[in-house]
Amino acid sequence: MSNSPVWHPFTQHALEPAMKRIVRTEGACLVDEDGARILDAISSWWVITHGHRHPAIMEAIRRASETYDQIIFAEYTHEPAEELAKGLIEVAPGGLEHVFYSDSGSTAVEVALKMALGYFHNTGRPRSRICVLEHGYHGDTIGTMSAGERGVFNTAYEPLLFAVDRLPFPGPGREQHTLDAFDSLCASGEVAALLVEALVLGAGGMKVYPAATLAELKRIAERHGTLLIADEVMTGWGRTGTRFAYEQAGIAPDILCTSKGLTGGALPLAATLSTAPIFDAHLSRDRRRTFFHSSSYTANPIACAAALANLDIWKTEPVADRIAALASRQRQNLKRFEADPRFRDIRQSGTIAALDLNVPTQGYLSDIGPRLRAFFRNRKLLIRPLGNVIYLMPPYCVTEADLDRAYDAIDEAASAFAMGQP
Ligand SMILES: *Cc1c(COP(=O)(O)O)cnc(C)c1O
Repeated sequence: MSNSPVWHPFTQHALEPAMKRIVRTEGACLVDEDGARILDAISSWWVITHGHRHPAIMEAIRRASETYDQIIFAEYTHEPAEELAKGLIEVAPGGLEHVFYSDSGSTAVEVALKMALGYFHNTGRPRSRICVLEHGYHGDTIGTMSAGERGVFNTAYEPLLFAVDRLPFPGPGREQHTLDAFDSLCASGEVAALLVEALVLGAGGMKVYPAATLAELKRIAERHGTLLIADEVMTGWGRTGTRFAYEQAGIAPDILCTSKGLTGGALPLAATLSTAPIFDAHLSRDRRRTFFHSSSYTANPIACAAALANLDIWKTEPVADRIAALASRQRQNLKRFEADPRFRDIRQSGTIAALDLNVPTQGYLSDIGPRLRAFFRNRKLLIRPLGNVIYLMPPYCVTEADLDRAYDAIDEAASAFAMGQP
């Protein structure tokens, strides 16, 4: 316990030790008040892609701040938002033609849900059911909590949450079961949209499913006139090996949500991209069809400038090579735990690697998570297991030596736990 007035997210202040202050960030590291370098092996909650304080992004922020601060985004527009929208449409394959800005992953998903319902409402065939995958996570607002997995995180708020249809997770050998469940749900003609994280369910435990299943879900949705909303808030910007995960399925979503890595992780910004029919359903001389949504900080010009610098980095630097190299190093390191009884479910998607510590107690509230965190913290590693799920999702600039060090620590942690410590 500390006497700070700050109330931190997802933090039980009665149990958490006093927090060290971070005074600087650099590449794949955080530097704390004692000058210690901490490897940011989870990219500061999945936002930092290229590395902390990439010079081109910081320079873009510096330059933009000399001409802009926040600008109202109705009645007026501005260059960074216009250029960024064009850039996003260029790099997001498959018929996405309109860009709606907001400021976080949660709002990007809320916007997507409203677009979907607005589309059906405005075209005179109201549909309001939302379908999701079991173990999904889409944010912490009331709407996105409703769509996410229910559990200890949202028990208190349950009375406010709306009902959604949940598909079983398409685990190995269970894919057809998920597809069949979706097909029969859609047959009601009431499902407006399927909201899914593409290829990897992040907060739900880094659960990976095949691109072919995502492709098949899209085909079923299409057949029933149901929209596919791809939540790529975590998977976007190279995490799974391609810029967007849905590219691997060879499909195009009707709505795409992106945030975390959009600015390379430097500033908060989000975008929800839609196809022309969804935009057109809101285009009318009847004002009631307006898309009624805004956040005060919509399309912040400085954040847009940072995102433009990110797009430029993707064009001018060997980002794909770095991602491939990181993915390959993750693969090599994971190999050392193959057939190791201390672990289960070793898995990877591009730059994301995950494995479950083979322990009887499970679930987020078990004390394994905090004990593992402390173990890693003592070794100057920022790794936050989800219960017994240990994962590494570092920035792409991480050195091989640093990554190997993280795996050494995972190895040590597993041994310590096997012996009933720490
Ligand atoms: C983090 C996350 C969100 C929520 O983003 P915030 O910026 O934290 O609101 C939504 N969807 C997915 C898949 C995420 O990982």
